[in-house]
Amino acid sequence: MKLDKILDALHLRDRVKGETVAIKMHLGGNVGYSTVHPVFVRRVVQAVLDGGGKPFVTDLAGDVASAAQRGYTAETLGCPIYPVGGPDEKYYYAHKRPFKNIEEWRLGGMVADATFLIDLAHIKGHPSCGFGACIKNIALGCMMTPTRSAMHDTNHFDPYWFADKCPDPAKRKAIIESCPFDAIVEDRKKPGELHIHYEMCNQCGRCLKVAPEGSLVIRPENFWAFQEACAISASITLSTFQPGKTVFLSIGTQIHPVCDCFGFTGQAILPDIGVFGSDDIVAIDTAVLDMVAKLKVDENALPLSMELQPNAGHPFQQVHGPYKDPYKAPEYLEKLGCGTREYELVDVLPLKRPERGETVYISAAQ
Ligand code: SF4
Repeated sequence: MKLDKILDALHLRDRVKGETVAIKMHLGGNVGYSTVHPVFVRRVVQAVLDGGGKPFVTDLAGDVASAAQRGYTAETLGCPIYPVGGPDEKYYYAHKRPFKNIEEWRLGGMVADATFLIDLAHIKGHPSCGFGACIKNIALGCMMTPTRSAMHDTNHFDPYWFADKCPDPAKRKAIIESCPFDAIVEDRKKPGELHIHYEMCNQCGRCLKVAPEGSLVIRPENFWAFQEACAISASITLSTFQPGKTVFLSIGTQIHPVCDCFGFTGQAILPDIGVFGSDDIVAIDTAVLDMVAKLKVDENALPLSMELQPNAGHPFQQVHGPYKDPYKAPEYLEKLGCGTREYELVDVLPLKRPERGETVYISAAQ
């Protein structure tokens, strides 16, 4: 199995003796079955056990509570599964790091107390930032609910709606009705104001065509705020581990347009791209994005609620809009000193064409 070869190349077994190893995953929700398959997790757990480490899998409390219905149990994985902040999210460490609307970041105690981290991520699209893999997995998945909510609210910190430029309720109604994705609505807390659901907005610009001049702006900075928040969050988690005590793995199977928390599985929008591993979180996410950049999105597999913008750039920008640049989070995290976007891709098991007359073994389709 290629994953085993990657674990060998990373010398994982030699590095975990006596370590308490948190394996951070996104265990998904409801009946979504396109998360990282338990077979992969078991191989990672076994490698840690072989090396004399004490592994546990961890994720948010709700996803852990329902994990068994998606095949994740202590029996299938080979180690316990713990909620990252305890069952009621009362076990966390607060980190002060002011950023836009956020003052305090609440990092789950189970990860903070571990001595070694394996960030085991599923590669997929994401409605907030275009893309999710290793950075996203720990940026959101290690923080408590109030912090995760505040991270999503960073989109709204810089003003984008200027009510004085649009006093006419009929005009506001027209703006709302112009969006085919219901991404722009009346603000529930402030009547007369409009509110953008940034996750649903693909920056198509239809609303701007009906909005009075200066009343509404759709600009990259609002979208990038979430990416920067992800980078800060990941850097806080990584700061709790000694150098050399983190490993990053990404599984590129069943690549969907949205997060695993959506709780369902549709058709994959991109072909499987394999397994990636690195000691560098910035390098691995950058390499995965570069690999995806060579692929073509299967438009027929996109949910009907989404539209493809073929000229928007990277495949994940084509799906989620040009301002959800998936390279921004690695860029911000590199600036925070947590890795490099420079990398060398090494194939641990290159394909070899058989010589003429050589026996070829295949496994027949079931
Ligand atoms: S830019 Fe497009 S998707 Fe975004 S709020 Fe406006 S109409 Fe909706």
